[in-house]
Amino acid sequence: SSPRSAVIIIGAGVSGLSAAKVLAENGIGDLLILEASDRIGGRIRKEKFGDVSVELGAGWIAGVGGKEPNPVWEIAAKLGLRTCFSDYSNARYNIYDRSGKIFPSGIAADSYKKAVDSAIQKLKGVESNSAEDATNRTDLSLTPKTPIELAIDFILHDFEMAEVEPISTYVDFGEREFLVADERGYEYLLYKMAEEFLFTSEGKILDNRLKLNKVVRGLQHSRNGVTVKTEDGCVYEADYVILSASIGVLQSDLISFRPPLPRWKTEAIEKCDVMVYTKIFLKFPYKFWPCGPGKEFFIYAHERRGYYTFWQHMENAYPGSNILVVTLTNDESKRVESQSDEETLKEAMVVLRDMFGPEITDATDILVPRWWNNRFQRCSYSNYPMISNNQVINDIKAPVGRIFFTGEHTSERFNGYVHGGHLAGIDTGKTVLEEIRQNDTQNQSFLLEP
Ligand code: FAD
Repeated sequence: SSPRSAVIIIGAGVSGLSAAKVLAENGIGDLLILEASDRIGGRIRKEKFGDVSVELGAGWIAGVGGKEPNPVWEIAAKLGLRTCFSDYSNARYNIYDRSGKIFPSGIAADSYKKAVDSAIQKLKGVESNSAEDATNRTDLSLTPKTPIELAIDFILHDFEMAEVEPISTYVDFGEREFLVADERGYEYLLYKMAEEFLFTSEGKILDNRLKLNKVVRGLQHSRNGVTVKTEDGCVYEADYVILSASIGVLQSDLISFRPPLPRWKTEAIEKCDVMVYTKIFLKFPYKFWPCGPGKEFFIYAHERRGYYTFWQHMENAYPGSNILVVTLTNDESKRVESQSDEETLKEAMVVLRDMFGPEITDATDILVPRWWNNRFQRCSYSNYPMISNNQVINDIKAPVGRIFFTGEHTSERFNGYVHGGHLAGIDTGKTVLEEIRQNDTQNQSFLLEP
């Protein structure tokens, strides 16, 4: 017969590990973590590029300095993770047109205000009535049309929504954001977390309760337990399962359920938008971009919305690294993921030559993460509709029989962030613990009956 555990946790990202840790620390040592890839960390992932560690996934600890402490910031501080303060808000004063001229700050500020007003107006429309209504009510003069307006609209919607609507991360935890710039990577935080409940030696996790390269393909569940089937033909049994695969994976057909998930569940899963966010790293032999105060972020204004718009230099994080990062999202991310990196490098160089002149040298190296095409991710993070009723997120989070759902997409307040994943994992761990204890009490009273 197949091995049986009290709890199987699917996925060793921040939420899965946080859930496992709660269980282990509360006496449920009989657990098994099945991870599809060959490493822990999930969407927290560093890679060597040039001479430094760059973060392909989560890069910032967002929400610092507010009324409530951000738990991820606290862990990072305790571990002495090296971070560096980031101020996006300067980006709007470094907007280049296609001839390399920087827009005067007055024009940039006006366009910014217009974009914020337009977004707020749209949001109010959505709040009061249907989305259709919102489009009708929107003052057409506020619709972004020119390259600078399109660029600002892109930045606002894909990066700075907090300017438009309150986002718990910034309201509760504070408005500051810190870039992780540590050779050990953001993922160091996860290794240290794992070390607290899994057996490790010389920086490696050797505990056989963590199994890597185990792609879960099937979950068969009943009143008595869950049978988990992996791609390599193994079968595992558990009293409970905690599933931490991303919203993108849940929307895909990677994992099948028997009996199938109920309609309310699949409908909620479909309703959640997935955001694809791609940081492309480019390495140069020398710097040709400005590096003084307020210059870390800059914007390229093109007539195509989101076309190599948002740039960052890495000199604050790693002086002398000569690395630039450009961020693409959604359709642009998917387009770039499907072409060769050489093609992408060429496109990026045309953009950089527009901004900094024809004489600049080609990048010597490029790194293009592919979150969308990764079948264990299929997204970068969840993006709930601006005014979504809480029902959607409650349904995505709600257990189905003995299968419990966790991950950043199940965090009501902090979806989309590392701390969202962390807190969601703790929450799910506690819920399952409670469930186990209740069952134990019931079984005990049954046994004690004469
Ligand atoms: P994951 O980390 O995805 O963990 C789920 C795990 O499940 C993965 O390891 C996966 O391999 C595994 N898995 C999936 N399917 C299966 C299966 N069938 N069988 C077994 N295992 C499976 N957050 C911030 O706070 N700040 C940022 O600056 C930031 N920037 C980001 C930039 C990018 C490019 C991306 C991708 C994300 C960013 N985020 C950021 C979001 C943050 O990374 C996530 O919210 C968080 O890491 C999600 O953790 P999780 O545990 O929910 O999911």
